[in-house]
Amino acid sequence: MLITNANVITWETPNRVLANHAIYIEDGHIQEIGTTRSLTAKHPKTKPVDANGQYVMPGGICAHTHFYGAFARGMAIPGPAPKDFPEILQKLWWPLDRSLDAEAIRYSALVCLVDAIKHGTTTLIDHHASPNYIDGSLDIIADAVDKSGLRGVLCYEVTDRDGIDKASAGISENVRFLKRLAADPHPRLAGTFGLHASLTLSGATLQACRAAAPAGTGFHIHTAEHEADEYDSLQKSGMRVIDRLQKHNILGPNTIAAHGVHFDAREMEILKETGTWLSHQPRSNMNNGVGAAQIESMMRMGIKVCLGNDGFTNSMWDEWKTAYLLHKVEHRDPRRMGGYDVQQMAIYNNAALAGMFFPAAPIGQIVPGAAADLIFVDYHPHTPLTEGNLPWHILFGFQQSMVASTMVAGKFLMKNRELLTLDEAEIAARAREIAPRVWKKYEEEAAKVL
Ligand SMILES: [Zn+2]
Repeated sequence: MLITNANVITWETPNRVLANHAIYIEDGHIQEIGTTRSLTAKHPKTKPVDANGQYVMPGGICAHTHFYGAFARGMAIPGPAPKDFPEILQKLWWPLDRSLDAEAIRYSALVCLVDAIKHGTTTLIDHHASPNYIDGSLDIIADAVDKSGLRGVLCYEVTDRDGIDKASAGISENVRFLKRLAADPHPRLAGTFGLHASLTLSGATLQACRAAAPAGTGFHIHTAEHEADEYDSLQKSGMRVIDRLQKHNILGPNTIAAHGVHFDAREMEILKETGTWLSHQPRSNMNNGVGAAQIESMMRMGIKVCLGNDGFTNSMWDEWKTAYLLHKVEHRDPRRMGGYDVQQMAIYNNAALAGMFFPAAPIGQIVPGAAADLIFVDYHPHTPLTEGNLPWHILFGFQQSMVASTMVAGKFLMKNRELLTLDEAEIAARAREIAPRVWKKYEEEAAKVL
């Protein structure tokens, strides 16, 4: 395939913006980048795909999401509004994840995948929970990801909140899925070992997870999202969350710690020392009223900080915009969290994280040999756009609705706003049929805790 007449944003280091360029793709990988004139002359027999002057760049990457939350859309939480994050878990997320059956898991994933294709997010790192349908749940999601054509990294969140049997079932589901992928690798699927959070995990369960995780596998866990996680850890172990996880050998260069809103300085130091990834979800943190993580400090320390959406819409530029604004208001200083900081998280660090899960070819860059995961953005700026000011064009000019085409591994999943792998109308219609059943079960589950 030859894409012509593109304004190519390569997201190399340093980044390059190349006017009227072409990209030659073969076997799902980028082979050549050159001017439209030179590559058209070189590949005369290839029928070109005309980008018509759109910006063509690597697809977005989401470092932390939850497909399972899709049925929360439009749902009313019974009774008074939750007063803090622990109550949000008890009143919303835990009764909701207990309400998911096989079909609800499948459609939760599908509606999020449709959203991701439409908004140009091509790699998603999911963190799944469905305590009443654990065994095989990751296969259901994997099947949806496979059908969508996107790239996904999956795990099941182990927790003690539903008893020891379900904690064991969660461990088995992670191990089963990781073994399945090891035995039968899939080019667009990867796995990691999911853990809910220190506050719902006993020492014995953490130990069991460590023992069960195959060699070389990392973990994906919520950390210090709210003070309650730190208080619980101190009470259970006399240690703060990150110290406790380090003691159980959960951290390391393959592990993702989400949030980190309430870390102390030593916890940040441990993340740095162990090479653990930290994923930042500003929309979620603001929505839950949990505070603002010390993201710039962590980046200055050399911690690998990534950007996720925590189940918010898969429009990652909205997450860029929120990160950009949150830290300014938090510090009452407009110099905080500049465009380059957001770019570092969302582009370079997220690409490095995706590359850890998919090491076969670079992801998130337009260079020869990289995976052809691309988006076409119908953006026509009225001011100059350069490598230097691109982050501010994204922050103030780009809209997710401008994503016109999405490609993964050289295959169009959406072309000129037409979805090619998933039937959005069918998926939405079936999800609407399922929703009343999920909501009724949710109300029953919520009534038990309210
Ligand atoms: Zn989360």
